[in-house]
Amino acid sequence: MNFKTLNFGSTIGIIGGGQLGKMMAQSAQKMGYKVIVLDPDEACPCQYVANDFINSNYDDIDALNKLGKLSDVITYEFENISATQLQTLVSTYNIPQGYEAIQLLQDRLTEKESLQAAQTKIAPFVQISEPSDLQEAIDTIGYPFILKTRFGGYDGKGQILVEDESALDEATELVKEQECVAEQYLALQQEVSLTVTIGNDNQIAYFPLQENEHQNQILFKTIVPARSDKTQEAREEVEKIINHIHFVGTFTVEFFIDVNDNLYVNEIAPRPHNSGHYSIEACDYSQFDTHILAVTGQQLPANIELLKPAVMMNLLGRDLDLLEDQFSSHPEWHVHVYGKTERKPDRKMGHITILTDDVNQTESEMLEKFEGRYN
Ligand code: ADP
Ligand code: MG
Repeated sequence: MNFKTLNFGSTIGIIGGGQLGKMMAQSAQKMGYKVIVLDPDEACPCQYVANDFINSNYDDIDALNKLGKLSDVITYEFENISATQLQTLVSTYNIPQGYEAIQLLQDRLTEKESLQAAQTKIAPFVQISEPSDLQEAIDTIGYPFILKTRFGGYDGKGQILVEDESALDEATELVKEQECVAEQYLALQQEVSLTVTIGNDNQIAYFPLQENEHQNQILFKTIVPARSDKTQEAREEVEKIINHIHFVGTFTVEFFIDVNDNLYVNEIAPRPHNSGHYSIEACDYSQFDTHILAVTGQQLPANIELLKPAVMMNLLGRDLDLLEDQFSSHPEWHVHVYGKTERKPDRKMGHITILTDDVNQTESEMLEKFEGRYN
């Protein structure tokens, strides 16, 4: 597919003003683009970075039209925006990413159905629309399974691990509130992710395979390159996906590797991703740089080089409480603080990237630093 090439200096409209929007804006501004951000929170991280700011809800059509009129291209940092509204905008404004990928991926059920149609390997699942459907999950998948709401979940929100029948009441309550999918709970050996950017003329840029550890279903750390031999297999899965879903810009595929060494696709984020943040310091182009190059129709680099191995640690509110006073004595920590006004224990407030010749050593030093974060 071919779309408009914008001159450096044009204006990029970003729907969503969180940390991803902020880092996107910073990449764009480096290249001379101006940035207008739309976000419902007037104190969002982008507020202090964007050249212009529209304070409105994501589905406010007047505000979206205003963004469209002021921008040469529209992109988004967040997948839970209204696909219906986006669809009404695509015929009027330059939105190379379209609305289809978002529409498909904001619903875990249609996401899984398309991953199946693309013939990727995913964990067995059952659609759970009403409490009585839970019996089908018990019969076909068996315990343990994980119940996930179809819409709106992130960082493990809207998920319940159903280990045995003692969790069924809680599961029933969740299903009464929202439609769900039940997914087999896999015994994991490792989690990895692959960040990819697709540009004009279907150019593809792959970032190196990323190894991720989650704690309480929130990304805790990323190590690159992943200590895994699954790069090729993961790329093959991504190729199947992009033959099936039309992507433009940066997206990330999350994978599970189970204890039997099987690779499963977990989910796709149709935007820059937390596990790609290390690329700001560790690669010759960051995931935000390549995203901006893609949506502005510029040529992508043929290869993304990892300049040095990296360990990325997320900083939740609880971690800032623990580590903030140490930032100044660790110049080797590339500290990113997003500028969110309200600090909550499990809210992503920033991250640290450390470039290192010895990821194992750096990992164990950092684990020591983070010890006690749940005390
Ligand atoms: P989110 O949208 O919140 O990122 P995910 O489906 O990626 O939702 O789940 C978050 C994390 O929970 C995963 O990265 C993994 O650590 C754990 N998890 C989710 N589903 C499974 C599963 N089926 N088996 C094992 N662990 C899982
Ligand atoms: Mg996830």
